[in-house]
This record gives sequence, C-alpha cells and structure tokens, in this order.
Amino acid sequence: MKVKIGSSMLELLQGDITQQDTDAIVNAANRKLLGGGGVDGAIHRTAGPELLAECRTLGGCDTGDAVITRGYKLKARYVIHTVGPVYKGSSPNTERLLASAYKRSLEVALAKGIRSMAFPAISTGAYGYPLEEASFVALRTIIDFLRVHSEIKLVRFVLFNQRTLEAFETSLGRLNPAGS
Ligand code: ADP
Repeated sequence: MKVKIGSSMLELLQGDITQQDTDAIVNAANRKLLGGGGVDGAIHRTAGPELLAECRTLGGCDTGDAVITRGYKLKARYVIHTVGPVYKGSSPNTERLLASAYKRSLEVALAKGIRSMAFPAISTGAYGYPLEEASFVALRTIIDFLRVHSEIKLVRFVLFNQRTLEAFETSLGRLNPAGS
C-alpha cells in the first residue's frame, strides 16, 4: 500500500528491514544500544561487528530519542537507532514516548540529509505495544511530519508478518491522509 503525503511517499510492505536499500533503516533498539533480540539482533547480524563497535562509543540512548550510525555491511548507508517505550498499559506518557521515537528518528534523518528511510513497527515485539494502537500512533506521527518536511521523499514501513501489515493498513485507512 502506498499513499502520497504532499510530495513525499508513505509505503507499507511486508518484509525484512535488513534488506532495504533506503538511505537509512531504523532500529528498534534498547537504551544501552548494545544489541538485543528481534529486529535489533537481525540488524547487527547483517551489518557486522563494526556496528556494535560504533554503538559502544555512543553511551546509550534515552527512551523516545534517536541516534545515528553508519550501516556497514547493510545496503542502507545509515542506521538510526531509536528506543521505544515498554508497554505497561495504555497511557498518555507511553503514547508520547512512542510518537517521540518516530519523530526524533525523522529529525535525525533530516539533519543528515537523508531522503529515504525504512521503519520497523517500534515497540510491538518484546516491548509489547498492541499493534492496533502502535500502528495508529506511528502513522499519525509520520504523516504529521511529512506534511511539514517534504525533504524526506520516502518513508517505508517494513513489517515482518501479515498481521502487522494488516494492522498498519487498517490504521492508515482510519487516518485517511489522502482525504478520500
Ligand atoms: P521492541 O523491543 O521495540 O518491541 P522487537 O525487535 O522485539 O522490538 O520488535 C519490533 C518489531 O520488529 C516487531 O513487530 C517484530 O515482528 C519486528 N521485526 C523483527 N525482525 C524484523 C526484521 N528483520 N525486519 C522487520 N521487522 C522485524
């Protein structure tokens, strides 16, 4: 599924984020930035040990913030590491932190001149954020940002399974950014 937001493109697809050839891919990291399971482990395995070495120099990342490294053996030139919140029940603060993880990732990308980037569904794996809520917050944040910053030409969500893709498609339908 693809929609235009101003002059930018927002795309949803099922796949593996480590294989994306966008300028940057986003990693759903943890605060220590020392690797982990899920998408984080997959990105580190594909990028090679130099990625962990660079991450070690950064001294961690707060929840809701983002930092950037090189991509090493990945097709993507950069990795933006962001830390989503652990879900412990619906709350305005948890929602704010998830939105912030997306927004800070976009801001870091903009500052580097990145034009295309791929996101996973942050916080929806080990961190337990329900897909219906997480996908809505994710898409609303991206759409609001692209409406103001057309410098980023492509945001692609790369969703690992059919269930996640369907949740994002439903939320995008509810947000109706094309106004149909
Ligand atoms: P978090 O700790 O933020 O919840 P996880 O890595 O556990 O991070 O899960 C985040 C999302 O990433 C989940 O929806 C999971 O299915 C997905 N995921 C895992 N591996 C990949 C991959 N290689 N490409 C894209 N998404 C992935």
